[in-house]
Amino acid sequence: MTGAYLPGNSTVELKEAAVPEPGHGEVLLRMKASTICGSDIRCIYHEHLGKGPEGYQGVIAGHEPCGQIVKTGPGCRRFGSGDRVIVYHISGCGVCNDCRRGYMISCTSERYRRAYGWQRDGGMAEFLLAEEKDLIHLPRELSYADGAQVACGFGTVYEGLQKIGISGSDAVLVTGLGPVGLAAAALCRKLGASRIIGIDVIPERLKLARDLGLCEEVLVSGPDNVAEIRRLTGGQGVERAVDCSANDAARATAIRATRKWGRIVFLGEGGRVEFNPSPDIIHDQKTIFGSWVTSTWLMEELVERLVRWNLHPADLVTHRFPLDRVSEAYAVMASGRCGKVAVCFDEEL
Ligand SMILES: [Zn+2]
Ligand SMILES: [Zn+2]
Repeated sequence: MTGAYLPGNSTVELKEAAVPEPGHGEVLLRMKASTICGSDIRCIYHEHLGKGPEGYQGVIAGHEPCGQIVKTGPGCRRFGSGDRVIVYHISGCGVCNDCRRGYMISCTSERYRRAYGWQRDGGMAEFLLAEEKDLIHLPRELSYADGAQVACGFGTVYEGLQKIGISGSDAVLVTGLGPVGLAAAALCRKLGASRIIGIDVIPERLKLARDLGLCEEVLVSGPDNVAEIRRLTGGQGVERAVDCSANDAARATAIRATRKWGRIVFLGEGGRVEFNPSPDIIHDQKTIFGSWVTSTWLMEELVERLVRWNLHPADLVTHRFPLDRVSEAYAVMASGRCGKVAVCFDEEL
């Protein structure tokens, strides 16, 4: 089979690899959709910057895989051939406290914690070897590209929104309208938020957020953002803010544009932020949450909700490429002038 590797100089290398044989508790997936994440670009594509859980070990890339089981190894207990599945993108040891909570992202086993596309082969290939315990059932109502979006981005956003709580009484600010920010707006809408304000620097992203009806207002990132948001919210600010930008100025905006008693969650990775604790959070009784990926059980809950809401994460996919054009896929994603970028197979292309 062919697999895509990221040597780290903003290029992609296609190489031949053997089709793996599933061992005990493992399954072989025919890949159907594999989306590209901002973290692939940030930590691997340009340069191998990541350490520890973000250290890339020269494996087949792609940590947002979705496909169909074509073979199961001995000892599988739930899934079988023909099942459509999402792969929770970190395979943990299964028995540490974090794994038992379903947060394999935080698995503490140095020996057994391996993320797909980082430390073990990922979804940018014709087939993927996965552990059965990492799989989430993909209902018929959702496409494989919908599922790939859940594997990382939508799952991560859903977790963060659960932490801050979103309801019909909330105006929400989303800073950073890349795929994660767009997902945040889409989920906030389904959770009842009627007024969603988005901020970004890239015109294509602002346009996409507006065209898809995900934001009532979009603002070009700048020093007046806090005043603009206050103006749009009767002088008070938003009840909830979600940072998906990892930009220091945008994070400070998210904090300052949130009203008294409001909640802010940081999802964007890397970078810094500077704010003044007393006026910016303490005196206004605000809470800032950090949130990293999600758990397997919350991912299952999200999939169920997506069907109920008739929400299709693949609507945010603006570019699809076949595997032999995977280089173009990463280049488009690195440009930022896009929504989500996917490598697709068979009927998903
Ligand atoms: Zn990701
Ligand atoms: Zn573990």
